[in-house]
Amino acid sequence: MPSERFSPASCPRLIVKIGSALLVDTDGLVRRAWLKGVVADIAARHRAGQKIAVVSSGAIALGARRLGLAKGGRANLEDAQAAAATGQIALSHCWAELLGEVGLTAAQMLVTLDDLEDRRRYLNAASTLDRLLSLGVVPVINENDSVATEEIRFGDNDRLAARIGQAADAQGVILLSDIDGLYTANPHRDPTAKLVPEVHRIDAKIRAMADAGSASGMGSGGMISKLEAARIAQHSGAHLAIISGKRDNPLAMFDADGRGTIFIGEKSGNARKAWLAGRLTAKGRIAVDAGAAGALAQGRSLLAAGAVSVDGRFARGDVIDIAGPDGHVLARGLAEYDAADAAKIVGRRSDALEAILGYAPRSALVHRDHMVLL
Ligand code: GLU
Repeated sequence: MPSERFSPASCPRLIVKIGSALLVDTDGLVRRAWLKGVVADIAARHRAGQKIAVVSSGAIALGARRLGLAKGGRANLEDAQAAAATGQIALSHCWAELLGEVGLTAAQMLVTLDDLEDRRRYLNAASTLDRLLSLGVVPVINENDSVATEEIRFGDNDRLAARIGQAADAQGVILLSDIDGLYTANPHRDPTAKLVPEVHRIDAKIRAMADAGSASGMGSGGMISKLEAARIAQHSGAHLAIISGKRDNPLAMFDADGRGTIFIGEKSGNARKAWLAGRLTAKGRIAVDAGAAGALAQGRSLLAAGAVSVDGRFARGDVIDIAGPDGHVLARGLAEYDAADAAKIVGRRSDALEAILGYAPRSALVHRDHMVLL
């Protein structure tokens, strides 16, 4: 039954993410025959006018084999960096060769978390992607693991793929996985576990299902990072599908039977807000009381009176999280004050602020125009 919900063939721009466990076999070699099938799928879509970017894992796994490193090159950061540097060149070569065989040109982009978290650098990466796609080239993207450090790395290509989808203005993101979607329970352990075909909202129930999910051991993304990716995609208005990469020609197969889990994208109008929602890091956090949490949910700005505490070191304009009384992050936005001034006015009413600060206060701690609800 062809999927009526979302078909990879139906969106003008698509991101396809391929995990290490699919790309590299247990001996550390590229699964070329399978990859040829994926490339054939990409070529067919390309002929139909679709623009595709690939987010390809596998550098660490491939490099580890070449260097003879233990634990698939993931024993420590230095090993992972060396394995990535060694494996990436082989990985790019493989993509360039296989895409070349079907008449397509590959382009390589290696990005770090900061490249996409910093708004200016994000826009820069976005315009490179845009140009490549409009030239009909197939960008092959990976994290620049050879220079990324533990604190500033994505670590998994699921979230990277969603972020790239946003930067490329893609309407769809497909995560090819060793599992064919999100299950209600762990399908390896629970025979009653059922595949969830469609998710509109990622709530506590959906998150609990992901906790029971799978990870292959070779890459680093499990179901949790896939849900994070889905959240980023949904906010940017894109659909995200988790489908099995275990079949040959997985994109064509998905088109034919629609098997997988599709996270439906929100109708989102504001690209800047979507970028904000998709960020993975924040410079600080303001905790708010229940009254302020309610006001935020209704689309209001965060006032000093509703804040209870300030954490972190941030400057005016930095991205901060806003957490409710239970510690859950409700919203994210740009701070109107630096951390020191924000701390001074926490819990204070608007008419008291000028005397405390010694200058005319801003209308809010975080203005609703620079805030997204998560
Ligand atoms: N960037 C890593 C690599 O190429 C993979 C990250 C992941 O496992 O998702 O090996």
